[in-house]
Amino acid sequence: MAKEKENVRVRYAPSPTGSPHVGNIRTALFNWLFARHHGGSFIVRIEDTDVARRVEGAVDTILEALRWLDMNWDEGPEVGGEHGPYFQSQRLELYQSAAKRLVEQGDAYYCYCTPERLEEMRAEQVKLKQPPGYDRRCRGLSATGSLLKFISGSRRVIRFMTPLEKQTSFTDLIRGEVTFENANIDDFVLLKSDGYPTYHLASVVDDHVMAISHVLRAEEWLSSTPRHLMLYRALGYKPPQFAHLPMLLGTDRSKLSKRHGAVSVTEYKAQGYLAEAMLNFLSLLGWSLDDKTEIMNRQKLIDNFSLKRVSQTAAIFNREKLDWMNGFYIRSLDIGDFTRRVIPFLERDLSTEIKRPLPDKYVSRITPLIHERVKTLADVTELTDFFFIDELDYKPELLIVKKMNPDLAVKVLETSRKRLGRLKEFDENSLEGALRPLTEELEMKTGQVFGTLRVAVTGRSVAPPLFQTMAVLGRERCLDRIKAALRKLKVAPEEPEGE
Ligand code: GLU
Repeated sequence: MAKEKENVRVRYAPSPTGSPHVGNIRTALFNWLFARHHGGSFIVRIEDTDVARRVEGAVDTILEALRWLDMNWDEGPEVGGEHGPYFQSQRLELYQSAAKRLVEQGDAYYCYCTPERLEEMRAEQVKLKQPPGYDRRCRGLSATGSLLKFISGSRRVIRFMTPLEKQTSFTDLIRGEVTFENANIDDFVLLKSDGYPTYHLASVVDDHVMAISHVLRAEEWLSSTPRHLMLYRALGYKPPQFAHLPMLLGTDRSKLSKRHGAVSVTEYKAQGYLAEAMLNFLSLLGWSLDDKTEIMNRQKLIDNFSLKRVSQTAAIFNREKLDWMNGFYIRSLDIGDFTRRVIPFLERDLSTEIKRPLPDKYVSRITPLIHERVKTLADVTELTDFFFIDELDYKPELLIVKKMNPDLAVKVLETSRKRLGRLKEFDENSLEGALRPLTEELEMKTGQVFGTLRVAVTGRSVAPPLFQTMAVLGRERCLDRIKAALRKLKVAPEEPEGE
């Protein structure tokens, strides 16, 4: 048992075709959790043999996503390992020699069919309503026939000689017994004419050479597995165990795509989601601890992760749940940590006219005012920008709150201004002590007095608690803003300050 545990080796094998999709990172996470739970190894292998689909910089983005979520890898790019290199494009000889060996053994053959011929064949199949797939024309080519074609300079690929009869079965650790009819599997390509392997060949060779014990991958690869098992057998390799993870769907039950909002993990990071929340959220896409527990930290996930509780049915990516969870994790941060994490977002999003770096001390007085109210770190800028801006931009009408008129608004502003000018301390309590009585004195409602004042000092009708906000803004700024508000109402503020 202990030995088996030590031997758990799983891999995350992304193709660098763009920014990593949440589904893809969910696969990485389940592999990582499985490895950590069993004290095994988590390997990252870059499957970059599809030259046409390779995207510059994609590997960096993928690794960045793993780093962000703190999914450390034991072997792979940057860290190396004894089974490297971990980029398939640097391992071509390995695949080429395996493909050649299969030809020599009679398990694979050279195919000289041109792309045009394959195109015609496909069109014919569509016309005759036949299932698609290579018609095996070159399978019967004699060795001499093949050699002659080769000498004459024809381009060739290597195809697997798929058995025409029987079935291929295996036990999927999530789905149980799965069976495919061999007759439905065509003679798939192993090596392309440019010497690059297909996914099937490269994946099997590497999973073997890298001593992978379990292949945990997305459901879309389920139908590739019989091909892989045929290859394992032909090459004389012991196959790993397979587990195909459930699909990810949007809340409308269609395949998760751009239409459902952000699908790249990097985008979520940029939108101010916490790595802890993302990790927890992704872990529940197809796995559960029981039927109620939602919040689980990294260690709890590692301790409890098991393929037994991965479901066969599709998982729904519910953005609202992610927002709720992110809010929960944000509120759980201590205020210092929250502030540290918010600063980069403020520095990125606040108007460029505001001087950087932002004063830490000032920011740390602001963040407690909105800590409980944000769903993402990026929300903070919009809620607090008035603390940083010099001149507020809002419509004068906003100053005239319900059941008020310009004269009453002016009265509120003038009276507050005088009172604020006289205050000894400009803290929350003194502000409250000075301003709260105004409602009675002016015979107005709280909402009217403080509503007008709120707009004057923040430029908006919804803002953090007024007295705390004013205390942070400070006397000078508050008085300036009240003056500016009076000017907006076309009133020249009375001079001097104070009664
Ligand atoms: N390169 C494949 C992908 O990006 C890997 C599939 C597998 O895990 O075998 O999904």
